Amino acid sequence: MSAQSGTAWKERILDPTEREVPLLLDLYREFHASPEVSGAEEETAARLAGALEAAGCTVTRGIGGHGLVGVLENGEGPVVMLRADMDALPITEETGLSYASRRPGVMHACGHDLHMTSLVGAARLLAACRECWRGTVLFVGQPAEEVVAGAKRMIADGLFERFPRPDCAVAVHAGPDIGAGRVGTRSGILSAGGESIDLVVRGIGGHAAHPDRTRDPIVLAAETVLALQTIRSREIDPNDFFVLSIGAIHGGTKHNAIPDEVALKLNLRYHRPAVRDQGLAAIRRIAEGTAMAAGMPPGRMPVVTVIDESVPPLVTDAALTGKCGAGIEECLGAGAVVEIPPLAGSEDFAVFGDAGIPLAYFRIGTKDEGSGDAYLHSSHFAPAAGPAIRTGTVALAASVIACARRP
Ligand code: ZN
Ligand code: ZN
Repeated sequence: MSAQSGTAWKERILDPTEREVPLLLDLYREFHASPEVSGAEEETAARLAGALEAAGCTVTRGIGGHGLVGVLENGEGPVVMLRADMDALPITEETGLSYASRRPGVMHACGHDLHMTSLVGAARLLAACRECWRGTVLFVGQPAEEVVAGAKRMIADGLFERFPRPDCAVAVHAGPDIGAGRVGTRSGILSAGGESIDLVVRGIGGHAAHPDRTRDPIVLAAETVLALQTIRSREIDPNDFFVLSIGAIHGGTKHNAIPDEVALKLNLRYHRPAVRDQGLAAIRRIAEGTAMAAGMPPGRMPVVTVIDESVPPLVTDAALTGKCGAGIEECLGAGAVVEIPPLAGSEDFAVFGDAGIPLAYFRIGTKDEGSGDAYLHSSHFAPAAGPAIRTGTVALAASVIACARRP
């Protein structure tokens, strides 16, 4: 019977979006001009919380740092979580835009300002068309995404106990390689998991003129670095995604002294947990085996530590991705949702999936004639903001309606 069945809900989303975009652009420019780095999102969170309250949400602040949750209740029905990350990067902006960062050395170069603005846009639309959907929407502002800590901290601070546990969660992210007005996604593995590893190669230091009286950790570290290259090339199935890079190597203080140890910092990227485990086991085996071959005594074996910066692969739910994608295409037109290949980068939205919540994730096209070629994390990143906000707002609102449409 409802006037909102069929395609009517589509107009209830699209018509107001056209009116909202200029207002949302003002909000976007405020976010963009006042960026704050991971963990320091105080003003940003306050601005986002205020905008969600103005849209009709009940907002709780200070969850896992500067995290916040805006709740919009609309009777019995599914609980849908929409998440936007809030942090910026320690980069000096070089776009020359009139609304460029007013804070030297800090920039929204990953589009998190677009994500927050789209979250507010979706809240305003959904509050204005309550007759189209039912249930509860959680609008989550997440801090510290760039250091893959914020999602974990919000969960540890009771995100899923203090608020209704979500049946699913949806996020958008700026996609500089996707044309404005389009959305990219895929089911299954969408971005890589990552591990950071400290490797301390230990030796027995001494005088550079008498290496025979030492066990030189510099030569051993060099051998270890080369031997580690054989993990990808000789041990991992060529069909599996695996990257191992060594980002830092530090040892010694002086020309004429052999140090006691050399510290290396490794970064591993993977899609399948079994491949991560295989890689970590190989790192330990090669580090120890190379040390033994160098005659290192048992008490001076290398120390391998996987540090607390793990991020799981982002695995999206096929049914949810299909349902939300269909809703988005209904609004944006056939062909607006395109399949993208898995990304080598990581995204801590994945942590919510690890906690058992089905996920959908959409890359929002930010490329048009005026946006240039700069990619995410570039000091020149200048997305097509108006079209991206329109697409992001519609994608989030349409996803909620696709999951919680009023019968
Ligand atoms: Zn980023
Ligand atoms: Zn990002």
